Amino acid sequence: MANEDAVRATNDDAAQCKRFAVERGYWEDPYISLLTTKGQARHAPEINRGYYARVSAMRTCIQRFIKLTDCKCQIINLGAGFDTTYWLLKDQQLSPKNYVEVDFAMVTSRKCHQIRRNEMLLKSIAGEDGEVKMSKTEIHATDYHLVSANLRSLEEVKGKLTESGIDTALPTLFVTECVLVYVDTESTNKVLKWIADSFPVALFLNYEQVNMTDRFGQVMIDNLKTRDCVLMGVEACTSMDSQKHRFTSQGWQGADGMDMSQIYKCLPDIHRIEHIEFMDEKELLDQLLSHYCIVWAWKDPHDLGLCDMTF
Ligand code: SAM
Repeated sequence: MANEDAVRATNDDAAQCKRFAVERGYWEDPYISLLTTKGQARHAPEINRGYYARVSAMRTCIQRFIKLTDCKCQIINLGAGFDTTYWLLKDQQLSPKNYVEVDFAMVTSRKCHQIRRNEMLLKSIAGEDGEVKMSKTEIHATDYHLVSANLRSLEEVKGKLTESGIDTALPTLFVTECVLVYVDTESTNKVLKWIADSFPVALFLNYEQVNMTDRFGQVMIDNLKTRDCVLMGVEACTSMDSQKHRFTSQGWQGADGMDMSQIYKCLPDIHRIEHIEFMDEKELLDQLLSHYCIVWAWKDPHDLGLCDMTF
């Protein structure tokens, strides 16, 4: 499989793992099964708990941002895959003014297709009287835009965001969930710098691998391999300091983060989800969680509280 196909296929893995955990009762998401097929694999309890932690923590941060800005904000999800947050926020009446999803055309075309054929997905996007413009790979509606772009091309990303009606004056949340590790460091830096230079009030939420060096300081590439992808942005995954530094070095006011084993202990629903499936090897889960993190970076000149993402 060519590398780009393999990177796109990581979306199928993520979506199917999420669907599997939802069907087991880890969290509620009526939309994921409308976007992805049932995978064939059965996933071990530690994988389901890991996904629960990822989804629950990201949701907590996104909702906090929306509440801090009183919904007068926009969200841009880079490498969104089959993410369902737009629909879930609509149901909770926590919609931002504009929501943009960016991914490769091969992924957005499949998402477009599913949205077109599912009334539940389409209805939220269309709203009461909203016009929905659809092509094979893109959707433009009043407060939802699905666009295709390669994150390695800043010019392409900028163009697609402009077409999506992005307002740089609005507080803006950027989300990357398991994405930047597939993008080379130079391209990521360009995107991060452009955001820092262009958006006066912004929060960036990045869920990704961390602590990926062994005791000799070597990057543990084997642990980072997903399918056969060549992972290009691994430098930042070596430590929490490097994860934060990549933002502060590109003009962000500040950055902070926690690894998922710390976050897991603070999540609200842990008691309930630990009763869903018996798990033999707790160490496996600890190990898995300690290799992932959420890092948040902010530009917050009016002190909205964007730096505070404690769980
Ligand atoms: N964020 C989604 C989630 O967490 O469910 C999908 C995660 S999946 C592991 C990685 C996503 O990033 C894929 O949908 C892939 O197509 C997208 N991606 C990776 N590199 C990209 C690039 N250079 N440009 C656009 N999208 C990219």
